[in-house]
Amino acid sequence: MIAQIIFSACLLIAVYFFSRNVSKIVRNINLGRDVRIKGDRKKRWTILLLVALGQTKMLKKPVVGFFHLIIYLGFIIVNIEVLEIIIDGVFGTHRVLSEIFPANIYSLLIGSFEVLAFGVLLACIVFLARRNLVKVPRLVADDLDGWPRKDANYILVMEILLMIAFLSMNATDQLLQEKGEAHYFKAGAFPVSATFFQPAYTSLTTSSLIFFERFFWWFHILGILFFLNYLVISKHFHILISFPNVFYSNLFPKGKFNNLDSVTREVKLMLDPAAENIAEGEPAPRFGAKDVYDLSWKQLMDAYSCTECGRCTAACPASITGKKLSPRWIVMKTRDRLEEAGRNYDLHGPNFRDNKALLGDYITPEELWACTTCNACVEECPVNISPLDIIMDLRRSLVMEESKMPNELAMMSSNIENNGAPWQFSPSDRANWVDGLDIPIMSDVAARGDAVDVLFWVGCAGSFDERNKNVTRSFAKILKAADIKFAVLGLEESCNGDPAKRAGNEFLFQMQAFTNINTLNNYGVKRIVTACPHCFNTLKNEYPELGGSYEVIHHSSFLQQLLLEGKIKIRENNLLSQESITYHDSCYIGRGNGIYEAPRQVLESFKAELREMKRCRTNGFCCGAGGAQVFKEEEPGRRRVNTERAAEAIATGANTIAVACPFCMTMMDDGLKNQGEEIPKLKDIAELVADSMEQVSPVS
Ligand code: SF4
Ligand code: SF4
Repeated sequence: MIAQIIFSACLLIAVYFFSRNVSKIVRNINLGRDVRIKGDRKKRWTILLLVALGQTKMLKKPVVGFFHLIIYLGFIIVNIEVLEIIIDGVFGTHRVLSEIFPANIYSLLIGSFEVLAFGVLLACIVFLARRNLVKVPRLVADDLDGWPRKDANYILVMEILLMIAFLSMNATDQLLQEKGEAHYFKAGAFPVSATFFQPAYTSLTTSSLIFFERFFWWFHILGILFFLNYLVISKHFHILISFPNVFYSNLFPKGKFNNLDSVTREVKLMLDPAAENIAEGEPAPRFGAKDVYDLSWKQLMDAYSCTECGRCTAACPASITGKKLSPRWIVMKTRDRLEEAGRNYDLHGPNFRDNKALLGDYITPEELWACTTCNACVEECPVNISPLDIIMDLRRSLVMEESKMPNELAMMSSNIENNGAPWQFSPSDRANWVDGLDIPIMSDVAARGDAVDVLFWVGCAGSFDERNKNVTRSFAKILKAADIKFAVLGLEESCNGDPAKRAGNEFLFQMQAFTNINTLNNYGVKRIVTACPHCFNTLKNEYPELGGSYEVIHHSSFLQQLLLEGKIKIRENNLLSQESITYHDSCYIGRGNGIYEAPRQVLESFKAELREMKRCRTNGFCCGAGGAQVFKEEEPGRRRVNTERAAEAIATGANTIAVACPFCMTMMDDGLKNQGEEIPKLKDIAELVADSMEQVSPVS
């Protein structure tokens, strides 16, 4: 009876502290901004089943994924055994479930728990070895110095001890069952403990066996109650919180960045003073996030869900090339700051502010400006966390609330404001690329009362950059050869706003967006094709909420379709048929919008040998241009991102590097410099098609 009272008291104390600490975490998460997360619930349940329960993202690395799956299953399934232990502890029974289940089912249950427990034991030893002996780089990186590194080791050791206690308890229990000891009636099957653990106890007397069986029983259950309370102060809380976090995953294409409502209202007011203003008494709007209070509850839940696995950092081009940025650290520092905010709340009440902030005191501008917005971190995260989302909101605050940004980006913004392009070109030069090509201009088409099937959105790089003008001309020639009824906006086209948005200047982005939407809607445009993934992503994903809904097609998909329909044909004896090509995935059509096959199918039509780079498709490596990086100097690091990528392309030994983005073209072109004599040709897929089409002379 005393044992039952002690056990019940321990249980109540453990549950009390666990619930109290979990409610504090929930409270902390609610310190964030309230946002409504949109998206279909059916899709959410599917993601929960696949990513959280099915561990699909973990299994992308099969060996580690397998061991993690064992630990995870062990955690879920062996805990059924814990239920029995708790009932036994409270009521003084022994193996109470054996009286509920038929003997063979109970034996099957206990036998499989043992196998799983043994698997967990082995997996934890493997994980300890990876951290401390093999020293896998992402598990020994500097951002884990201090408590995070100890935490990871403590939990693995704890799990090993718990599994040893569980199996030792079973081993001694079975010996007592065989001795016919009262209370230890025959129940269960013990395939693992009988083989590996029992030999250590067979020579013991009955009283010693009872002592050890009780010792391990208490050690196991008290260890689990301790573990439960340790979870809430450890990264291992992800075991619980990753389920709701995955449920509330972003369901939109990764390339889509949210449009700040606070900015939309201001921009609408600028464009139309009669538009709705903020109501009296309503708090002043915030533009981006300075501190955890400005982040959304979902971003804060992300911070608590981080497993500190470092897969994001291991895939991050900025981190790989030695920049100060580590997406894992961004998430960890957000959680650290949130914990601090929570402690302030406990000590001084909800309205207390300590004059510290996530931006500045925890995360530096240098880290934020190193991000290329490539989405590799988001793609890699096994629990669908978006470090990029936090980075972008902090950038927005830096730019829009503090007017702090690299000089080159300030220049880029003023170019967009003045010239409608991120460079200092005259807007009147925008359509110079059409010279001699007889390209229909939308205003002329409309003036004739005519309509087009598709609008060719050229983009700033395609209009002004000398190298990329050839891509534009090539694509226009293909459209003409395929007899597509198209037109361009000509001088009416203006920057889509992507560089401003990715640089944190949401105001400028929305000004550009509203202007362009007005132009496009005035012409009744329905379909748009563009050779620029950034224009494609912005027009397709970010304009609809602002009133511009169009079918937007990237030229890789358009070319694939023209080839499939036979509207263009590649010559049998084309120049590439005897060559090899490697394709560089653009982040904004690849990870951003899931387009991987279309450009490859276009390349396959040349019958050339397609050689993939080491990092391709979902784990493709950025060229270093995105996130407005192309308009500024790279942050200090060991190597430039484009040099790293160009070297990887050269390593394939391919004769030609194919790209499908003007900014990848610029960055790869630059990255290929100083890489030796034998550098491959660099071409956009449109140039390759135009050069090899039947009946069309090569583009001059
Ligand atoms: S978006 Fe890309 S560059 Fe930015 S943190 Fe993530 S992986 Fe690194
Ligand atoms: S953000 Fe995701 S990928 Fe990065 S360390 Fe955390 S759990 Fe791992």
